[in-house]
Amino acid sequence: MKVAVFKQRGQPLAVEDAPDPTPVEGEVVLKVGRCGICGSDLHATSHPDHLAPPGKVLGHEFSGQVVALGKNVTDLAMDDCVAVLPLSSCGKCANCLRGELPWCAERNLEGGGYGQYTVANQIQCLKLPSTISMEDGALVEPMAVGLHGVSMAQFEPGARVLVIGAGPIGLASIFWARRHGAGRIVATARTNTREALAMEMGASAFVLPAEDLGAEVNKALGGPPDVVFECVGAQGILAQAIDLCTRRGTVVLMGLCWSADSYVPGLKVSKEVRIQPSAFYSKKEFQVAIDAFHAGNLEPRSMITDRISLAQLPDAFEALRERTTQCKVMVDSWAD
Ligand SMILES: [Zn+2]
Ligand SMILES: [Zn+2]
Repeated sequence: MKVAVFKQRGQPLAVEDAPDPTPVEGEVVLKVGRCGICGSDLHATSHPDHLAPPGKVLGHEFSGQVVALGKNVTDLAMDDCVAVLPLSSCGKCANCLRGELPWCAERNLEGGGYGQYTVANQIQCLKLPSTISMEDGALVEPMAVGLHGVSMAQFEPGARVLVIGAGPIGLASIFWARRHGAGRIVATARTNTREALAMEMGASAFVLPAEDLGAEVNKALGGPPDVVFECVGAQGILAQAIDLCTRRGTVVLMGLCWSADSYVPGLKVSKEVRIQPSAFYSKKEFQVAIDAFHAGNLEPRSMITDRISLAQLPDAFEALRERTTQCKVMVDSWAD
């Protein structure tokens, strides 16, 4: 099979031949359907402190079809189409049994989506109904990230919501906030490239950075936001979110900022702003995302701006390190 392999920092991914995988007990071999490129994959190939091991096949936003069964696979059958939680885990602890794989003590982030075949444990897989395409299936992971953030926010119906950042996670947060009874939702990002997309996903308005962003946001929302979703992950955004949030409001931290960052604790204290980090998802949240597609909520498809082959992946991957107009790039590892 063909795979795109991470070699080392500063080198593009390399498309190589690799032996077809064989499943161990409880595992299935999946023919990868589609795999989205995620900012965290870029990060894992560039940040000196968080590098993936050389030889790793990245790609964690993927769907696939079962083409081989290991021993004792009871939940899946040949030809089943699945979305995959990209985490290995012990499979036995209380968290695993509840479907909370990210919180297993033995959790490990897995990839494999940038290849033609990969393996997954049956516990990681959720079946896709026939109404859902492989491409929809590959959107389930980022959509589940947004859903988890909205669940963690625990806002009241009608809440005023601000989403900072209009990448896939910001857009997914808008989608779910709208469907969880938010009132007005305002999105803000550095440029208005994603304005139409944000509106499509359910935003009420889009504002560009302004000298007095708070005034702009409050005007668009009809008051300060009850919930702020931080979906950028850069220095200074947390402080900005606390500043913009209403008193006793909630800041949901979803962006991954890997540098030290600061805010004024007194401001947070005096406003009693709750900071709620949000990471990963549960199997249940994956299922909710699948069900949303099945029910015909197809807006997330509009996030897909590009479709590429495995051969095109190394160059496309490097190009994404610079700011581009692309949103979600889908890899079809079987395309020519
Ligand atoms: Zn991701
Ligand atoms: Zn476990």
